[in-house]
Amino acid sequence: RDAGLGSWPRRRAAMSPDAVALIFAGRRTTYAELHERTSRLAAALRAAGIRDGDRVAYLGPNHPSFVETMFATWMLGAIFVPLNFRLTPPEIDYQLRHSGAVALISAAPHDADLGIRVAVADLETFAAGREPVEATPAGLDDVALILYTSGTTGHPKGAMLTHGNLLWNCYNLLVCVDVAGDEMTLVSAPLFHVAALNQCLLPTFLKGGTSVIMPGWDVDGCFDAIAEHRITWMFGVSQMFAGLVRSPRWPDADLTSVRCLMTGGAPVPEALIRAYQERGLAFCQGYGMTETAPGATFLEARESRAHIGSAGLPVFFTEVRVTRPDLTPADPGEPGEVLVRGPNVTPGYWNDPAATAAALTGDGWFRSGDLAIVDEAGHFRIVDRTKDMYISGGENVYPAEVEAAIFEHPGVAEAAVVGVPDATWGEVGRAFVVPAPGASLTPGDIPEFLTGRLARYKIPVYVDVVDDLPRTGSGKVRKGPLRTRLLPAPA
Ligand code: ATP
Ligand code: MG
Repeated sequence: RDAGLGSWPRRRAAMSPDAVALIFAGRRTTYAELHERTSRLAAALRAAGIRDGDRVAYLGPNHPSFVETMFATWMLGAIFVPLNFRLTPPEIDYQLRHSGAVALISAAPHDADLGIRVAVADLETFAAGREPVEATPAGLDDVALILYTSGTTGHPKGAMLTHGNLLWNCYNLLVCVDVAGDEMTLVSAPLFHVAALNQCLLPTFLKGGTSVIMPGWDVDGCFDAIAEHRITWMFGVSQMFAGLVRSPRWPDADLTSVRCLMTGGAPVPEALIRAYQERGLAFCQGYGMTETAPGATFLEARESRAHIGSAGLPVFFTEVRVTRPDLTPADPGEPGEVLVRGPNVTPGYWNDPAATAAALTGDGWFRSGDLAIVDEAGHFRIVDRTKDMYISGGENVYPAEVEAAIFEHPGVAEAAVVGVPDATWGEVGRAFVVPAPGASLTPGDIPEFLTGRLARYKIPVYVDVVDDLPRTGSGKVRKGPLRTRLLPAPA
């Protein structure tokens, strides 16, 4: 019964009390201190009436108090609901209401009618003078988190993740990556998304390593942190890693401490992988989603040179297959939908039986809505989202493939492609490109560059040169707003 993650600070404090758990803005917190602070905070939350099963929401950028609130919530057997602070107030209110949160830890004010009984702006004062409490035991099947998905394709959905889901993902990851007890992990992506939380922070914690927490992403801050703390491991979405390569600091940055860079969560251009490999760095791609806590497939470092562009093999304790629309297995080389089954897979969406029924099959497979190809060696290549594929003149076009080809253009920093209606072809491609700093790019450059590289029907008919792309809090391109923009003249 006491296998829940609320026991981790106590267990870690017993095993490595003096090891540094967190570094934030130069402040170090040892595992012993973290355990004590977490226990005091749990006492304060319990005194405020928080009981097991209650939802405790947290709203704010990456900070040690995120970690303390999370463990304190779990110590009480309650459910942690980290919210994306980049959402608008109505979107945040929706998630507070939908999750039924009774406590909100946030510096920002909230609406009075939300049902929040415990509002905490300053954790330090709130927990002051409390005596540490013992944890309420939680089992592996108890819900630990309600984690809202990125909202790339629509409204974020509240995925439930149990203590067991989180733990099994850590096990899956530790099988593939040699996370060490002296790991110096850079937590640079937002903790309210599953990758930073459960591909970085929690596995590092489990091993007794150190998480260096960045309040938000910035290229210079990342280079500084790597140099100052001799970072060994970090996760980033491809846009973050692309930003490092484009920086003037890239050629001279000392990256010798880095053992493994992990990416996923969005398509990864091969040119980007090569840029890191040319510097001798192991660049591992994983594929996953909030609902699988998140790892589904992973490309191990030792395979990363031989299989550039692959998202690897199914993780150790989890089954992953590619299926036809009738859910029978696809052949090698045939694109199909990815299904995932295993101990890391969500029991469903909070308070949303319809979405749960649509996503989980009767025999426990989670339908990802992603298209992938498995090669003869069993390696997964993520093709695109089912919803993003479009059909031009009867041919399937996968925007991710077109984006990767555009990305090879030296004057392009970012690219996104969507299908738009067309009287002749049914649909045609429309590309949005952000020029690289200092580059001058005209819409006509793109079709010209792609001719000979991609089949005619894949080449976007419309090209917009733009300053930036609409993105989710985790840095993924939101295609919905791009699809509805007024069309320019054909390039
Ligand atoms: P929403 O479900 O709200 O639309 P989302 O699917 O982006 O948002 P996440 O759970 O954060 O929310 O992201 C999971 C998705 O990210 C996957 O379903 C897949 O589409 C994409 N993804 C993850 N890893 C990769 C990868 N290696 N290559 C390409 N796409 C990836
Ligand atoms: Mg999704």
